Amino acid sequence: MSFSAEEFKRQFPLFAQEENSELVYLDNAATTQKPMSVINAIRDYYIHSSANTHRSSHRLARKSTEMVECVRKKAAQFVNAVSEKEIIFCRGATEALNLLAHCLCSEMEPGDEIVISTAEHHANIVPWQMAAERHRLTIRYVPDIAGIPQFDRLGEVLNERTRVVSLTGGSNAIGLRPDLAAISQSLRHVQVKWIVDGAQLAAHEEIDVRKIGCDFFVCSAHKFYGPSGIGFLYGREGLLESMPPWLGGGEMISKVEPQTSGYADLPHKFEAGTSSLAALAGLGAALDFLAQQDRKAMAEHEQKLVHYLHRKLAASPDFRLISQASHNLGIVAFVPVHGSATDLMHWLDERDIAVRVGHHCAQLLGRASGNLVTVRASVAAYNTDSDIRTFLQALEDFCEVQQ
Ligand code: PLP
Repeated sequence: MSFSAEEFKRQFPLFAQEENSELVYLDNAATTQKPMSVINAIRDYYIHSSANTHRSSHRLARKSTEMVECVRKKAAQFVNAVSEKEIIFCRGATEALNLLAHCLCSEMEPGDEIVISTAEHHANIVPWQMAAERHRLTIRYVPDIAGIPQFDRLGEVLNERTRVVSLTGGSNAIGLRPDLAAISQSLRHVQVKWIVDGAQLAAHEEIDVRKIGCDFFVCSAHKFYGPSGIGFLYGREGLLESMPPWLGGGEMISKVEPQTSGYADLPHKFEAGTSSLAALAGLGAALDFLAQQDRKAMAEHEQKLVHYLHRKLAASPDFRLISQASHNLGIVAFVPVHGSATDLMHWLDERDIAVRVGHHCAQLLGRASGNLVTVRASVAAYNTDSDIRTFLQALEDFCEVQQ
């Protein structure tokens, strides 16, 4: 198989709309656009199969239930889980991390420790802070240099009180992609639960949780061409079995008595209430869509664009690069030397070039670099060479006007 960004892009109807004919979409780390197959799956679900799952056994309910369990199988294959029971559907990475913080910390002793890093998205910081306050736990950070975590020094913050290590699989602010094999090596002889926040990772490379060796992996479908409001948590079966449930309600119980309840088996123990069923249908289509692609060629194309952008910006006296090209998941973060990042974002927006400006839900990382508000251009496989040329030309024009 080979890869053509132009052909790939044609599967995304948003780009075919007249009002978007000039659009250069470089805000993919926030969310990706959706291919027609995902949009059709959501539409078809409502037209052909809409019914609640499990609760009843009529034809449509069975069809809906089968759809959900089929998507679970696909999700298990997507991350190479041992069993479908290891896949818990949720609203996305944020909800999955909250589930983990709630369930894992409720079994810890005061003084136990959680290790995270300055490069985490707020979704992998705040839930731990909330749980740490509730259970009197300590949060430690991977040692950093000027705010950039030095994952090879992870061992320095591990001790006999460490219970959880929850680290990004790729930073949404600067694209930094830790060496997961090296982290796995550091954790080889310690009894901790290792969580990978894979929200940014899943769009850019194939995931193999067994090869990574993590205990939990979280992701959001909207970051890999699927719908928003749906994602999943992978967890080792034995660990999920031993964890207390999180949300209470329908579907997650085996029986309910006046004072106590028994809980359902995995994976339903963690899936209280009615899921976003149409979004699940869309997630299934996104997983099929990715399975049909040459992922290696897609990644090579993205890397080519990211390296080119870094080279061009590094060579320009008008920009200060914040991100680095190596070990990067598709993100170019920078600030203009003249004018503000916000002015630049507006300039680009007027030319229908979509980038993001701000702290990118990673304030700890921003603080380390002097609270810089950065411009973030994040690529997906449908970004073409022409997108990049248009973007670079607009940057050059901005600089000319500033001087
Ligand atoms: N973790 C990372 C690294 C992210 O980039 C994001 C979203 O930007 C999240 C977690 C949260 O994902 P969601 O908002 O889909 O729950």
